[in-house]
Formats: sequence, C-alpha cells, structure tokens
Amino acid sequence: MNMFLSILGSGAALPIGARRCSAQVLNVGGFKLLIDCAEATQDRIRYNHLKLQSLSTIVISHLHGDHFFGLPGLLSTMHLCGRTEPVFIAAPKGARQVIETTFELTGNHVGFPIEWHEMDFTDGEQRIFENQRCIVDAFPLDHSVPDYGFRITEKPRSPREPLVYAYCCDTAYDERLVEHLRGADLLCLECTFANDMEPLAAERKHLTAGQAGRLARLADVKQLLLTHISARYREDEPLIGQAREEFPNSILAADNMRIDIKKQN
Ligand SMILES: [Zn+2]
Ligand SMILES: [Zn+2]
Repeated sequence: MNMFLSILGSGAALPIGARRCSAQVLNVGGFKLLIDCAEATQDRIRYNHLKLQSLSTIVISHLHGDHFFGLPGLLSTMHLCGRTEPVFIAAPKGARQVIETTFELTGNHVGFPIEWHEMDFTDGEQRIFENQRCIVDAFPLDHSVPDYGFRITEKPRSPREPLVYAYCCDTAYDERLVEHLRGADLLCLECTFANDMEPLAAERKHLTAGQAGRLARLADVKQLLLTHISARYREDEPLIGQAREEFPNSILAADNMRIDIKKQN
C-alpha cells in the first residue's frame, strides 16, 4: 500500500456531533503529512494510532480556527513528550507570529526546532516541500483570508504512474482551480452547503455539493472526497446525491475514516 488518507476531522466551523473540524493525515509510503490542524487533532491522532512523534511535516491551508487552532496544543504536547527532532510547518504568513506569540505570552516552551515556510503568494503554484517520498505544491484559493490548496505527488517508486492527492479547503467556486487539480487520483474538496444555499456559499466563499462535483468533473479526477460538512447536515443526503449528479464517483468523509488511494481503471 503506497498512499492512504486518515480523516481526523470532517466538519465545518463547529466541532459538534460526530464531526470534528478539519485535519487529516496523508501517508505516502510511510511518510506522514498532517494537513490542517483544528482543535481536537491531537486527540484524533492518538485515537487513530498515528503516533504523534512520527509526524514531522505539517501544512496548514489557512488560519481560520477550524483549520489551525489545534496547532499550539499539538506542538506543546510534542514538547512535553520529549521531542527533540525538528518539525517543518508550511502555513500562510502570520502563522509563525501567532504560534511564537502564544508560546511567549503563555510561558510555554517548545524544545525542538520549528522550520517555517510561510506562504504569501496570490497566483500560480509553488513547491513548498519535497522529500524522497513526495512533493507538495501549493496554490491560492478564493476565501475570506489567505488560503492555499495542496497537490501532493508521490515520487515514482514502481513502473506505474505516481499517485496524486489534492486538497482544497475552504474556497469559493473558481474554475481556475481546475489546472491545479487535473487528473488527481483523489481530490478532497470542501462541501459546506447543499445546492439550495448557493448564494450563502458564494457570500461566505465556500462550495456547494454540486459545485464540488462540477470541479471534480472539469478536472477529470478519479475520485472525489467531500469534507468540511456543515453541522446542519446530519445525514449523507442531500450532499452526496447532489455531488454525484455532477460526478458519480464521489464519497463523503467521516471522522476516523481511512481511504486507500490507488490507481483506478
Ligand atoms: Zn473551514
Ligand atoms: Zn475558512
């Protein structure tokens, strides 16, 4: 198994019911990448037996609390558990100041190096991380604060084509995203609202289920994973049905779900 995704939180804004807020771990050939870090992320890491100290690379899409507020606690716990190895964090500009100020003003301390990569660009695509397992490219999204999507491409390890995973959360509908998402084996898109709430989705710069399905179809991805589900939806419907009208191979994320990413015929 070369690539799989563990969903730690699949809800939007409010950590209530069965859904906690955004966080997931992508495993690429044993290398683990933490993508977003909402409140409760460290709990979910433990619950899913993902071994906190084995995480050394974190990417944060944007600084809204439902994607970021778990980071100080996570770093603090890593320190309390004796970490000395460095952690790499890529996040929008300002994240470093938030974390450093938090530790300074609260008298907490992190005894390991943090290597920051602050993202501050408004178009195109930038490579933010690379190791022997994968490369991570970031591209800007259209949201109410600076926000980035990620495209993670496996380094070739066998005769088959590399696997690609793409993640966009949160964003307004924007067909310029398609070029960054094209051909992904799994595309994870936010899906905060059902289709009848399209005006509110546009105002708050989020996607509806139908819009997420349309982007997946235009980008010719293999499978669509819907996440960032508003607490107003307690059932899979109407979201999954509306996405499947546009893109049949759609699934809805659930907390603690694991998805194998593989080449589909
Ligand atoms: Zn959000
Ligand atoms: Zn947001």
